[in-house]
Amino acid sequence: MNSTVAAVILAAGGSTRFGRPKQLLPWGGRPLVTHIADIAWSAGLDPVVVVIGSAAESVAPLLASRPFWIVHNYRWETGLSSSLNVAIAALQPKVEAALFIPVDQPLISPRLLQRFVETWQTTGAGIVVPQTPEGQRGTPVLFAREFFSELAALSGDVGGRALFAHHADRIATLRVTDERLLSDVDTPEAFETLRVSASSGQQDLDLGEIRGLICDMDGVLWRGTSPLPGLMNFFALIRDLGLEHVMVTNNSSHTPAQYVAKLAGMGVVTTEDHILSSAVATAHYVAEKKPGAAVYALGGSGVMEALRMSGLAADDGTQTVDFVVMGWDRELTWRKLATATRHILAGAPLVATNPDLTFPLEDALAPGNGAQIAALEAATGIKATVVGKPAPLLYQQALQQMGTAANETLVIGDRLDTDILGGIRLGLPTALVLTGISQRDELSESPIRPTAVFDDLPALVRAWRLTESRSEKRVTDG
Ligand SMILES: [Mg+2]
Repeated sequence: MNSTVAAVILAAGGSTRFGRPKQLLPWGGRPLVTHIADIAWSAGLDPVVVVIGSAAESVAPLLASRPFWIVHNYRWETGLSSSLNVAIAALQPKVEAALFIPVDQPLISPRLLQRFVETWQTTGAGIVVPQTPEGQRGTPVLFAREFFSELAALSGDVGGRALFAHHADRIATLRVTDERLLSDVDTPEAFETLRVSASSGQQDLDLGEIRGLICDMDGVLWRGTSPLPGLMNFFALIRDLGLEHVMVTNNSSHTPAQYVAKLAGMGVVTTEDHILSSAVATAHYVAEKKPGAAVYALGGSGVMEALRMSGLAADDGTQTVDFVVMGWDRELTWRKLATATRHILAGAPLVATNPDLTFPLEDALAPGNGAQIAALEAATGIKATVVGKPAPLLYQQALQQMGTAANETLVIGDRLDTDILGGIRLGLPTALVLTGISQRDELSESPIRPTAVFDDLPALVRAWRLTESRSEKRVTDG
């Protein structure tokens, strides 16, 4: 999502028909208002503006620890338009469109919200409205900036719908085949029905649809130097099903050949074209922008080797360069930072392999590449382009390499804030394995929700084999 599209969560209403504040209803271990705003944030909408009014004193503290903008609508009793008025006033000029999301649609998903943005981008329409197979129009609704002033001028208990009649030719329809996604919570009975159907529904992840894998390595395939249980069976599954696969890492220190050798030592045979490190992806990115570019590079042998393999000339820093590339550099010096700063201020874009702020040493945390980036950004006032997770470039290259579509490519990772968030932002199904950084108890608090969670690789492989045997049975029965 390259455009700036805001989410406006409409959470100011008085829930008069419902009888108690809908914002506070429990959903997936958190209040509904937090759940909806989390979904908008993990979809990549930015900023996420939450309009609160009724029960504000209870709602505001629930959102305090999240990266949302809280906007108070003190006139909420005058109707929905007052919430649109204050939300529009809060949107910065750079916001090109806003998706208005009622707080009482618990089944919306990040993917559904991303489809609004895609529809707006591809159709050139100014308003995007969802429609069920029966032709029923629903919410959320996306409005482009051209309609902000009209929304801000509405009064009384009307919403954005009031604009539809006058701008019928500017409306694009988003067809939503699973109409459950648009269900709202109007009565306590409707809420109960939705809750039951959501919890008894089949796993959201359909392994039978998956044709490609983007798989993190550390914490998924191994930990340190020890292979994790199920490694061999996992690769047997990949082979048996003929799955496309790329193994990715934010670590820029090692070369693909070193990862191939590491896996070989664990009994897994693979080739370098199945390994994509943030260093290799960075070199690809720069080489695509400018073939043969002159680069001033910081980082270890992983970065230098990747640049060389992509035909990029790593300069010693005395000449003019086209790009500054920054990977984690254990021999970082003030002089290197000074040279990089000079090049960046002379106009060379800063491209960084990965945003990890820290690097875990045996006994303490040490600064990671993200800390180095921060130093250069502070010195130059220029933002780096970051390639590694959760930014999209690394996964986009993996997808391109495999030739699989987003919805048939599964991300497998052990970290919610990098592996899983990166997948959700690109609309990929995600599987968290609990053999690395993120643990089960974090799931109820985290705004990032993987499509599926597995204890370890053996559990994932078992589920996949079961799916396969079921579909084979269907074929035989049919
Ligand atoms: Mg990992």
